[in-house]
Amino acid sequence: MSLPSASTASASADPGAAPAIGARQLTKRYGDFTAVDAISFRISRGESFGLLGPNGAGKSTTMRMIAAVAARTSGQMQVAGLDPEKQGPEVRARLGVIPQQDNLDEELSVRENIIMYGRYFGLPRRFLRAKADELLEFAQLSHRGRARVEDLSGGMKRRLTIARALVNEPDILLLDEPTTGLDPQARHVLWDRLFRLKESGTTLVLTTHHMDEAEQLCDRLIVVDHGAIMAEGSPQRLIREHSTREVLELRFGMDRNAETARLLEELLTHTDAGSGDVGFDHIEVLPDRLLVYADRAEAALEKIFAAEHKPMTSLVRRSSLEDVFLRLTGRSLVD
Ligand code: ADP
Repeated sequence: MSLPSASTASASADPGAAPAIGARQLTKRYGDFTAVDAISFRISRGESFGLLGPNGAGKSTTMRMIAAVAARTSGQMQVAGLDPEKQGPEVRARLGVIPQQDNLDEELSVRENIIMYGRYFGLPRRFLRAKADELLEFAQLSHRGRARVEDLSGGMKRRLTIARALVNEPDILLLDEPTTGLDPQARHVLWDRLFRLKESGTTLVLTTHHMDEAEQLCDRLIVVDHGAIMAEGSPQRLIREHSTREVLELRFGMDRNAETARLLEELLTHTDAGSGDVGFDHIEVLPDRLLVYADRAEAALEKIFAAEHKPMTSLVRRSSLEDVFLRLTGRSLVD
């Protein structure tokens, strides 16, 4: 991989080419417990692929099997055309791995962290000195090269962890919950860096339980729950297939939400002829609010007001992956 520059052409996934990663009936059991339950997927080269699901869904376990650090119980897997179980070192040499927790060496400076990591791969010092400069610039840390790791902010540490993982010029980058724990600004800076890597042709595989992150970064994703794949597709396609175009969020007060939901369901299902179809689908009752799924949420709200229902607050928004997850599992992804 060469780092993106102004002249780098945007690489797009080619589904016809050999996959970057392929899994068939991939299964991992811990004793009687099945953490990953016969999942199959195929990630094209240059694709940005996400595993979206709640904590405990089996995302990290799947990543560990890809990274050749956990053995599978059954099924098949290929990474860059190799079997991680039989060719672990070769697979690891092709991967950049960004774990959930930064595991930087606090004793070393920012720049030395990159150089020492490269030494583990047996890369020569001369190469690494130039590489460290390039990667520090990419990570927007050139000015902090001599700083101690402990003096970096959370976002900077994350960027250094990513820079370090790029030292062996991997074609596949595995990121486990890349922005969990970062503030919104630091997340956006990180997303920007990941976009650049994607543009340079690096295959990105990431786990997340943040739907906005999945929507921002992933060309395609699988929604996983209890170790199984619930749905697969681009964020837009998943939303189209499993939700309405828009959602109306209403608060009537905790004690009135459920009863009001029944009345609204009746109202929106049986609309008068000629009053306009709002594309109503269904209502989800959450502890604190109602989610009215309708293609035209604003029109649904007008109808609700016209029938003298007066919510305390109302909000019209587009459907998101959170709605897809709620529809597929009956549970909210936000924990
Ligand atoms: P996620 O990354 O989606 O949060 P994990 O892959 O970490 O989920 O975990 C999936 C399930 O497997 C969880 O219920 C977890 O407790 C269990 N698990 C993970 N690692 C082990 C292990 N080494 N031994 C036993 N159970 C484990």
